[in-house]
Amino acid sequence: MSANNALHIAVLGGDGIGPEVMAPALEVLRRIEATTDLKFRFTDAPAGANNYLATGKSMPESTVRLCEEADAILLGACGLPSVRYPDNTEIAPQIELRMHFDLYAGVRPARLIPGVPSPIVGADQKGIDLVLIRESTEGLFASMGKGVVTETEARETLVVTRKTSERLFEFSFRLAERRKARGRANGGLTCVDKANVFRAFAFFRGLFDEAAQRHPDVRTERVYVDACSLMMVKRPWDFDVMVTENMFGDILSDLAAGLIGGLGMAPSADIGDRHAIFQPCHGTAPDITGQGKANPTAMILSAAMMLDWLADKHGLESAAEAGERVERAVDKAYADGIKPMEFGGRNGTADITKAVLAAL
Ligand code: ATP
Repeated sequence: MSANNALHIAVLGGDGIGPEVMAPALEVLRRIEATTDLKFRFTDAPAGANNYLATGKSMPESTVRLCEEADAILLGACGLPSVRYPDNTEIAPQIELRMHFDLYAGVRPARLIPGVPSPIVGADQKGIDLVLIRESTEGLFASMGKGVVTETEARETLVVTRKTSERLFEFSFRLAERRKARGRANGGLTCVDKANVFRAFAFFRGLFDEAAQRHPDVRTERVYVDACSLMMVKRPWDFDVMVTENMFGDILSDLAAGLIGGLGMAPSADIGDRHAIFQPCHGTAPDITGQGKANPTAMILSAAMMLDWLADKHGLESAAEAGERVERAVDKAYADGIKPMEFGGRNGTADITKAVLAAL
């Protein structure tokens, strides 16, 4: 926090619809600023495929330095399928930042907002309110850029370390406890792995069991990732907090987004011991860029997660309240009939933003 107590926020709009969903989130935060004692200082910085095209780098050193100094980082979306490194991978500064700041806990809440259609029968009555925590610095992604490919075979190595897993599980148990204390859910935590086949996952589960002994008040369960995918579709309301390896989390978080209406509804946070990035689960959506169709809800809810994290970090009660206010405003906008084009409605970015601001 700077001298005048303003929270310094690094703003990385990125590519495609990134800047289009970032603008509404900043409008919401400015409205929060106008109606609370919170003060923000926003600093824009370049990152992504367009920056790569212009400079040959995914982001300048100044962006990394800004992120280092800021209290929190807001990111739109980065990367374009048409812009690639020579090895054919996409420009992904968000993953570089995750690794650089050791943001091991990828928090992916999936809450079905009343009024939003879910493809799951019964979800409107039973509700969905789960949080998937995806380990975000190792697992199969530890192999990123290091895979070995020859004429006849390809290999990538999955990594699970005690150090990261212990921090990940502590974070997960703490979140389950906080949600229980807020009366938000049933305080359960599910470990998702493939411990019946791979030694690395048996190790992962063993570390989960050790952490469970330190948190006897949290109800725990352990499921295999394949069975978990089925359960998430058949009875998603039975899950509260879930924790899993990076690649499994990558896949399951898109599945979770599908349960609650789509990627445009799914916020996320990548959290480490000191830094955190808040960004929607979705990518840059080049198919709808520049058409005013992007759903900014996920980005707005990511900003609400940022407020909650800042509240926890700095002991700012008003930031926690502001985060909840933003969530309630989004709920009200949907209860009042907003229906994004993303799921067949008529409302584009501007309408959704206007409705959320009005509800605030
Ligand atoms: P990435 O690999 O970068 O995560 P992706 O391949 O998963 O990206 P997205 O860019 O997330 O792809 O888009 C997937 C689909 O979802 C596209 O059809 C896109 O238009 C749609 N979509 C994603 N985000 C939104 C949004 N905020 N509003 C409306 N539609 C969206």
